[in-house]
Amino acid sequence: MLRVAVIPGDGIGIEVSREATRVLERAITVFDLDIELDQWDVGAERFLRDGITLTDAEFRTLAEDRDAILLGALGDPRVKDESYVRDILLGLRLKLDLYINYRPCVLPDPSLCPLKDVPAEGIHLDIFRENTEGIYLNLGGVFREGMADEVAIQESVNTHRGVERIVRAAFQFAADRGRPSVTLVDKANAMPIEGALWRRVFDVVAQDYPEVAQNTMYVDAMAMDLVRRPERYSVLVTSNLFGDIISDLAAELTGGLGLAPSANIHPGRHALFEPVHGSAPDIAGLGTANPIGAIRCAGLLLEYFGFEAAAVAVETTVALSIREGQTTADLGGARSTQQVGEWICDNLDATMPSTQPA
Ligand code: ATP
Repeated sequence: MLRVAVIPGDGIGIEVSREATRVLERAITVFDLDIELDQWDVGAERFLRDGITLTDAEFRTLAEDRDAILLGALGDPRVKDESYVRDILLGLRLKLDLYINYRPCVLPDPSLCPLKDVPAEGIHLDIFRENTEGIYLNLGGVFREGMADEVAIQESVNTHRGVERIVRAAFQFAADRGRPSVTLVDKANAMPIEGALWRRVFDVVAQDYPEVAQNTMYVDAMAMDLVRRPERYSVLVTSNLFGDIISDLAAELTGGLGLAPSANIHPGRHALFEPVHGSAPDIAGLGTANPIGAIRCAGLLLEYFGFEAAAVAVETTVALSIREGQTTADLGGARSTQQVGEWICDNLDATMPSTQPA
């Protein structure tokens, strides 16, 4: 039995989570999967009501009694101090040591690519972003704050263990999936201290995967090349900061924010799946949010836990919904969040007739 906690969160997170849950429940029925879902009231509403983010007991339950978390989005303009988002999201990422931020960027239909010349081969990038170190640990300090000679120092933390495990995860993924190459994205020319560690570890780990080609690329050159010839790249591995930026670019090349899923993983221990987009307060409550990023998160969850046929059905049906124009306004369609979710549910078994129960 796989136990999944659903945390809808705030804003459109609540709306897209509803559709991801709908699709996941449908997949559980159609494919007869041993998965149990439960909904968690965590987010701004509760914080405003009770002043609670996530209690220690709740964290323990999530860590010990749930195998995975399916998150909508967190963030609410009514809560001026967004430290509650950091408390919950970064707390979960760091305390559960979810060191892999995996973002698959696959172009589901050429019409969604903003490039003038869409590569005939399509675009398929798998980004492995280090998720627990780098410059996002908030280490450093300010000296003479507010004065003309103020000094602000933000440290970037890179450990051998941290680099090794994310690089190995990227190579292992490439080897398991038959992906042709792994590219290390860094800035080793201008940041040679951390760059040297990443490159040394990358070279050593690569020797264990002779069947996978290895390259290195400076992040600025990569930003250019992803726009010029994204079809050249396959698996990318990079730091927390560069991964954040490169994966937004890659998401935009493959259909935009509304479509992009992500997974935060510690293999064998825990996993948290969340769409790349935020809570989008500007469209919250309108029923226009694109639920596909969240639905694809459900697909990623199924794939990660080995429910291959169900995962393929979700991805196939999502692509079909786009081809059939069953889309929300961000993709040029006129369907509501709920209509897109229902369409994908209704067509989930139709796309995989051989897997329907008798
Ligand atoms: P965060 O800091 O939490 O990432 P943000 O405001 O920077 O939040 P989003 O909340 O992701 O970013 O929204 C950015 C823009 O993209 C907004 O204009 C929003 O309406 C739009 N957007 C985000 N997600 C979706 C979606 N699922 N469907 C349609 N539009 C979306």
